[in-house]
Amino acid sequence: MTSTVMFLLKNIKCASYSSVIRGIASLSQLSETHQMIHKMCRDFAESELKPNAAKFDREHLFPEKQIKQMGELGLLAMEVPAELGGAGLDSLAYAIAMEEISRGCASTGVIMSVNNSLYLGPLNKFGNENQKEKYIKPFTSGKKIGCFALSEPGNGSDASAASTTALLKDNKYILNGSKCWITNGYESKAGIVFATTDKSKKHKGITAFIIDKPCPGLSLGKKEDKLGIRASSTCTLNLEDCSIDPENILGGLGLGFKIAMMTLDSGRIGIASQALGIAQASLDVAVDYAAKREAFGASILKLQSIQNKIADMALRLESARLFTWRAAFLKDKKQPFSKEAAMAKLAASEAATFNSHQCIQILGGMGYVSDMPAERHYRDARITEIYEGTSEIQRLVIANNVIKEYNV
Ligand SMILES: Cc1cc2nc3c(=O)[nH]c(=O)nc-3n(C[C@H](O)[C@H](O)[C@H](O)COP(=O)(O)OP(=O)(O)OC[C@H]3O[C@@H](n4cnc5c(N)ncnc54)[C@H](O)[C@@H]3O)c2cc1C
Repeated sequence: MTSTVMFLLKNIKCASYSSVIRGIASLSQLSETHQMIHKMCRDFAESELKPNAAKFDREHLFPEKQIKQMGELGLLAMEVPAELGGAGLDSLAYAIAMEEISRGCASTGVIMSVNNSLYLGPLNKFGNENQKEKYIKPFTSGKKIGCFALSEPGNGSDASAASTTALLKDNKYILNGSKCWITNGYESKAGIVFATTDKSKKHKGITAFIIDKPCPGLSLGKKEDKLGIRASSTCTLNLEDCSIDPENILGGLGLGFKIAMMTLDSGRIGIASQALGIAQASLDVAVDYAAKREAFGASILKLQSIQNKIADMALRLESARLFTWRAAFLKDKKQPFSKEAAMAKLAASEAATFNSHQCIQILGGMGYVSDMPAERHYRDARITEIYEGTSEIQRLVIANNVIKEYNV
């Protein structure tokens, strides 16, 4: 754990803490460390992210200063052991932190989640000593971030159909193909790229490679102009005779698909938490506005139809949070959590979409303009139902697991 995060954890007083836990289901049941992580992230998001999120979004600005600060706080390598430069915390701490950061700025949330779950996660689990030294340690402090390149123009949901190839020639793997929609594509200094080393083996012929950025043969496509999470960069990685040393194979030849699927299981806890942050921010804005807005001579907060919306928003948010924390808890206990992570992502992303939609309705015309954050939350929410497996794919994962449990 970095010295800064240690300092903060020691100096946060829990006695005054109850005043800030509004709306957080069961938070008082959590350990002191988890409560402190929550407070540290909420304070950081309130002071550094929330006031800047609209500008980051409007101008497509990567939050460079804030990402470095988050690195200092240990937030970019939360589950990486301390000896490798990480915070050495658990998945529940990560879920709590991701929600609070995303409540302040959902774009910053996805940058954080890609570095933690999709880049450092598989390196920490499958990397050898040399790979950990070179590709984990420098990526924990916020000075360098990583990316994860699985999706291709021809296949997103069906990752087993990867058409990017890696052919062995003169003891080097030569990669050719395109990886699209890559978050942190512009800023990252290394990435995990999936390519087929043996087409005849189908998904068992896919291998994960660690690539340096920049590297000869690798070029970046245009920065995508997105509906939401506009402060995070998304682009295509074009690989043209990109020569990679065999020592940069992660986990072993042909293990890429397994690594990708295991990584996405963990990643879904991060995206569920990002969605919770958006859902919570939407509820915050809605209640705050409704309390101040009057119609027909009284506060609209007193109207039953507004209260019904608030009740539905809180219900979806808090039930999705319980799903998310359950998945994190199971991961921390080294229990299977694939179904639970899919449930968490599905419930939380649908809660984010629902809450941000209702938030706009409660704000009326003010919900529709960028003077208020409601429309940004609505735009940011939408992606959580798409990346790291669409809602349709989450339902497939859940149903497959449930059917297996019935043993029919
Ligand atoms: C902003 C953004 C950031 C992203 N970041 C990354 C990243 O960092 N790294 C990365 O590798 N990828 C990333 N992605 C890609 C993302 O994971 C894919 O877009 C997603 O998995 C869906 O794939 P697709 O877009 O090809 O849709 P498709 O797979 O073409 O799906 C189209 C529609 O068909 C449905 N569908 C497909 N198959 C089935 C099925 N079997 N059953 C039911 N319905 C189905 C889908 O649910 C969807 O509704 C990102 C995408 C975006 C938009």
